[in-house]
Amino acid sequence: MKELIELDKKHFIHPTTSIMEQQEKGPKLIVEKGDGIYLTDKEGNAFIDAMSSLWNVNIGHGRKEIAEAAKEQMEQLAFNSTFSTFSNEPAIRLAKKIADLAPPSLNAVFFTSGGSESNDSAIKLIRHYWKIQGQPERNKIISLSRGYHGVTAGATSATGIPQFWDMAGHMLTGFAHAKTPYEIGTTASIQSIREVIEAEGPETVAAFMAEPVQGAGGVLIPPSDYFKEVRKLCDEYGILFMADEVITGFGRTGTMFGIENWAVEPDLMSFAKGVTSGYFPLGGVIVSDQIHEVLKEKSQGVLFHGFTYSGHATGAAVALKNIEILENEGLVENSRLMGEELLKGLQSIKEESVIVGDVRTVGLLGAIEFVQDPATNTRFSPDLKVTSRMIEALHERGVICRGVTYDGTDIVCFSPPLIINKEQIDTLIERLRQSVLAVQQELES
Ligand code: PLP
Repeated sequence: MKELIELDKKHFIHPTTSIMEQQEKGPKLIVEKGDGIYLTDKEGNAFIDAMSSLWNVNIGHGRKEIAEAAKEQMEQLAFNSTFSTFSNEPAIRLAKKIADLAPPSLNAVFFTSGGSESNDSAIKLIRHYWKIQGQPERNKIISLSRGYHGVTAGATSATGIPQFWDMAGHMLTGFAHAKTPYEIGTTASIQSIREVIEAEGPETVAAFMAEPVQGAGGVLIPPSDYFKEVRKLCDEYGILFMADEVITGFGRTGTMFGIENWAVEPDLMSFAKGVTSGYFPLGGVIVSDQIHEVLKEKSQGVLFHGFTYSGHATGAAVALKNIEILENEGLVENSRLMGEELLKGLQSIKEESVIVGDVRTVGLLGAIEFVQDPATNTRFSPDLKVTSRMIEALHERGVICRGVTYDGTDIVCFSPPLIINKEQIDTLIERLRQSVLAVQQELES
């Protein structure tokens, strides 16, 4: 253990981590094994993985069928390039499967290795789409404050969480942000998007992109009329609408894709995470027939965009098996049903505690907010570090969760594997209840 901690400190630069803190303390948890909703560390301590690791292990940990599918495919054909006119059967079948699952007008898939690459690919495809139609000036991407779209250059520029821009000094041009509907509602957010379009010049705007539910921003669920209004606004200005389904795709919100909750068809969707439940790094962009037609008719020469691992045969075989499990085990429906149970549990804690503000779920994507005064929604002082205390209290009780603090809000997010059952939800809620009451007592003393 000690040796691993020292080696980690010396050689491993962790993603999204305080490097100074890591140097001081080393890794908090070295995970040895995953099984169902549980992760076990090297000392044998088991934790409920209430985040599905990074919102992605939808079918749960330790699924042997996936290991077998990967082994079989690797023995047959681990990888071949799909550049130019080469192809392979799993990638072809996966593209068809995703087209069948997506809204009816989205039928052509470009594959990547993850969410950020998918969003950057989408941004480049969108700009290409306008350029080949003789409108190269239509290149701006509008997205929302508190949105998270990844860490590659385009994806970070579209992200609406300023900490991500600060790291490298400046971001790309051609991106602008409007206000999220969280707290201000549909009308004000739509007005904000309109103002940004007008300020940038409508003829320079290529697309609006948003997560159906803002995940890293704190599980911010838009009002029920929001995306209908977004679609209307995009149509009014003739701009494309892209849904970032990296978290919300593949059952997370109780529907196959998150945007279905708002009964709206986007022009493009990006996906990653749940498409393989994290068993293989794979993502992609699915585009509408209309976009595909323009690409087919007007792209001249080579599409100079592609990754070595686009259409990875083993990744595609893993994704196909993962989707088969999601379907055969009714996990999308389970996500909806267990999401309702999770919400009931969160509401019962709210009734019992004096520091719980809003609680919300959509499928198995949920959040609980902590406030000093629920009646007036007065927030805690950031100095009290309520979110960190809560995450620590949960950790002590065997639950891995993710906290978000933004603009004085203290939020703990939940995104457990979609295989979770009622008894396990009850255990999770009980541990959360104990954690909330313990932190409440700490704050009172
Ligand atoms: N988009 C959303 C909505 C995400 O939540 C994430 C990652 O959390 C990404 C994009 C980036 O995906 P990746 O980390 O696979 O690059």
